Amino acid sequence: MPTNLRYVNDAAIRKTLANALETLPDEYLICRGQRHRFNLEEDFHVPTSATLVGRQAKAAGDIERHFRCERCEVLRIERYERTRDGIVPAGGALYREYPDGYVLSGLGIPRGVKPSGVVQSEEFRRSMSKVAKAARKQSRSRAS
Ligand SMILES: [Zn+2]
Repeated sequence: MPTNLRYVNDAAIRKTLANALETLPDEYLICRGQRHRFNLEEDFHVPTSATLVGRQAKAAGDIERHFRCERCEVLRIERYERTRDGIVPAGGALYREYPDGYVLSGLGIPRGVKPSGVVQSEEFRRSMSKVAKAARKQSRSRAS
């Protein structure tokens, strides 16, 4: 059993992921390859029952802070709990409201598996494709 799925090197999984990434919108690929770019959306607050994010949030703490990715618009929820001295992070961050098409589900890729290099390879492919396209455009305009 793999001990660290994050760096699993299974060829079939790599191929499946590479194929799925080919049609991912640019901004989602950037978020996957270079992390999200979060802006504060809602500062520290006590969530009301309407905004609580399920049992986990209730169990972890009673204070949240929300961030929104400016590229893909995923919501990051930081959770905190009160102590005598103030607050401390509790339970880790939750990610909610992924945009349609961001999550690659139904492909048989176990959750959390990110074969190293696959995302970067797709970023590289697109980057080189843009360079080639720009070069073709330049040579066409020179020829006319
Ligand atoms: Zn993002």
